[in-house]
Amino acid sequence: MKRRNFISAVGATAAIGSLSSCSNSEKNCSTDTATKQKVIKWKMVTTWPKNFQGLGEGAEFLARIINEMSGGRLNVKVYGSGELVPALQTFDAVSSGTAEMGHGASYYWKGKMPSAPFFTTVPFGLNATEIQGWLLKGGGYELWRELYQPFGVRPYTVGNTGVQMAGWFNKKIKSLEDIKGLKMRIPGLGGEVLDRAGGTPVLIPGGEVFTALETGAVDAAEFVGPYNDLAMGLYKAAKYYYYPGWHEPGTTAEAIINQEAFDALPEDLQMIVEQACHAASLDMQAEFTAKNNSALQVLINEHQVQLLKLPDDVLIKLRKISEQVVEDIANNSEIGKRIFKSYNAYKKQVRSWHAISEYAYNDSLRLSD
Ligand code: CA
Repeated sequence: MKRRNFISAVGATAAIGSLSSCSNSEKNCSTDTATKQKVIKWKMVTTWPKNFQGLGEGAEFLARIINEMSGGRLNVKVYGSGELVPALQTFDAVSSGTAEMGHGASYYWKGKMPSAPFFTTVPFGLNATEIQGWLLKGGGYELWRELYQPFGVRPYTVGNTGVQMAGWFNKKIKSLEDIKGLKMRIPGLGGEVLDRAGGTPVLIPGGEVFTALETGAVDAAEFVGPYNDLAMGLYKAAKYYYYPGWHEPGTTAEAIINQEAFDALPEDLQMIVEQACHAASLDMQAEFTAKNNSALQVLINEHQVQLLKLPDDVLIKLRKISEQVVEDIANNSEIGKRIFKSYNAYKKQVRSWHAISEYAYNDSLRLSD
């Protein structure tokens, strides 16, 4: 006991001594105590409106748990889209160091990296649980990091919306002919598919979708699913709500971090950031699962939204176009080919397993006596 008291007494003296010398000269303030107490301030820019349901809230949740897990040593401040930089400049802002961190989705950066959508979602691709398996345990994450590495950006998965909705339309889609000439807000590779089907895809950030649809700047729009679409009031601007979201079967949200800012963190804070991303990922996926179904009931019962399923032959044709689009995008670059190869090999394996587990179970729910 005596020895322990002596050590802590010496420690306390040393800490007090170093703190008092810090107050005399801040420049010499390099003791362990000072390092541990130093507050690092980060800015997080996002592609979502401030506090937007599920996604913007996901960014806030991530920042809050980093702050709390680090005991306030790493203070992350969230900026909604347009507050510091426009939504679609999030990646550039993190790459240049204007912000240390970003929150969005990789498919927004396909103009810069054509194979980036593989890490968000691709049409008729992996669902939420499947893409988590590929990213975290199937080799996807290593390729994602390699893709962003030349930009000095480090990616993390921070959530998933699950299967989205096909979108909001003001005319019925009875055949692929009805898509011809259609101007639609649809990002990622889904937009490429729409283009090849004869439509005109438009990339508009989430916060501007309602205005674009209401003013007729676009004929149709997809955003996420009932939870977000209800909050955004999209039911006021279109009559028909189509499913399923063939173009986004398991959309992954990303956190991106400036590599130099990450490297400058002490190891324990690096681990806190990484584990906070895992926690945020689980939280967001659970939130979408829980809230989409209650929002769907509000849309149907209170707002009389007409829910319609895309015809089978439209889905079959879109799937065929999608397969070609995904392959073409992958063939654009050497890394794209490797990403495609890894994704496809994993998809084949996971689907043969899910055919006798998840999908077989889902089928059993539709059986009647
Ligand atoms: Ca979407």
